[in-house]
Amino acid sequence: MQVVELDKILEKLESGEITLSRLEKELGNANLAALVRRLFLERKYGIGLSAIASTIIDFEDVFGRNIENPIGAVQVPLGVVGPLLVKGTYARGEYYVPLATTEGALVASVNRGVKALTSSGGVTTRIVKDGMTRAPVIWTPSIDEALSLVEWIEENKESFHSVISRITRHGKLIDFYPYIVGNIVWIRFRYHTGDAMGMNMITIATEELCRYIEKNYPGRIDCISVSGNMCSDKKPAAINRILGRGKYVVAEAIVKKEIVEQTLKASVEEIHELNTVKNLLGSAAAGSPTFNAHAANIIAGIFLATGQDMAQIVESSITYTWTEVRGEDLYISVTMPSLEIGTVGGGTWLPTQREALSLLGVAGGGNPPGTNALKFAEIIAATVLAGELNILAAQAAGHMARGHRLYGRREVKKDG
Ligand code: NAP
Repeated sequence: MQVVELDKILEKLESGEITLSRLEKELGNANLAALVRRLFLERKYGIGLSAIASTIIDFEDVFGRNIENPIGAVQVPLGVVGPLLVKGTYARGEYYVPLATTEGALVASVNRGVKALTSSGGVTTRIVKDGMTRAPVIWTPSIDEALSLVEWIEENKESFHSVISRITRHGKLIDFYPYIVGNIVWIRFRYHTGDAMGMNMITIATEELCRYIEKNYPGRIDCISVSGNMCSDKKPAAINRILGRGKYVVAEAIVKKEIVEQTLKASVEEIHELNTVKNLLGSAAAGSPTFNAHAANIIAGIFLATGQDMAQIVESSITYTWTEVRGEDLYISVTMPSLEIGTVGGGTWLPTQREALSLLGVAGGGNPPGTNALKFAEIIAATVLAGELNILAAQAAGHMARGHRLYGRREVKKDG
């Protein structure tokens, strides 16, 4: 692009003649549009955005798919923990798990838990339930009509499959959970979504289903919204904890007494007692909807590394951490009823995110479809278990503050 033309575009942006969101159309190229947006912002604020400009992302590929108004990318350090031995139904073997974070000490902390678990014989993981949910909210004139609608949906649910199959190949309706308040009805539809997290897929399918129900139900109803917040997406909600959403997964291990003492520098009894007073009693006293020490830390690290939807950390980090003293050894488990993840769709195809998924052998669609996502869910749960084990041990032994002093408090030497 000529300098004169560039100046003209910048002047038009500055005068408000065109808006930032028009640049792709004006310039016909998303990478050029990102450059011009940066120049506009650099000029407006007298700052440099060269670090944000430095990216391998081709905006011709991601514009309109993953981002609007792009100006560049942010980079977050990426570490690995491992080898983590997983004895799952889908994940079987040793894994190096990527964590993207800026929290010094996090990777080292989880890694110590990983070391303890692997040397104790590994982590058993199982999927309890699998299904993504969308819950439209439907107006009916009365409670009798609300009940009659739920009955009609039950009687006609077999006909829904052909409606859904017009929208998606991988999305399959499993069941539904009705909820009534007065004359208002929520239908929490639950779907298998293959290897995708599935929210786009099943939102579009559920919209189609709503239209079908409105058209065919022999009464006066109005589907007010495809999402009535009983789904419940990107918000803390007890329904996800109780009924599950996405992958409902459990990871457990027996950690030998010697390993608790030598690797984790704590005792079995101390860890068990701390879990009870902190994760169970403390969480209950605080009114917390979730019962763990820092599952969100591991979920956030893996989500960021692998292109998951970051807002779903809210419900994906719902975790019960449970311990028992088994003879001399420690039994520890994490139960994650609402882990919303995918290995296709969303941001999973972006170059760095896809490489991070390939590190775990789960990039793209599984064979058969769905198995990559289930394997990924098991690896995540096993890593969360490592994080929980280590932090309980560290806090029980009073080591946490020391760990942070060592890894997280080094002064940043360079500006910018
Ligand atoms: P998506 O990228 O919209 O859909 C996944 C696509 O992959 C589908 O077209 C599917 O085809 C195809 N596919 C190919 N192989 C597959 C396999 N093995 N398993 C499953 N699908 C396969 O992804 P999504 O998971 O549905 O949605 C994720 C995106 O939704 C994220 O960007 C997220 O941020 C966003 N999101 C949307 C909403 C919303 O309300 N719309 C809410 C939260 C998040 P078929 O459909 O033909 O099977």
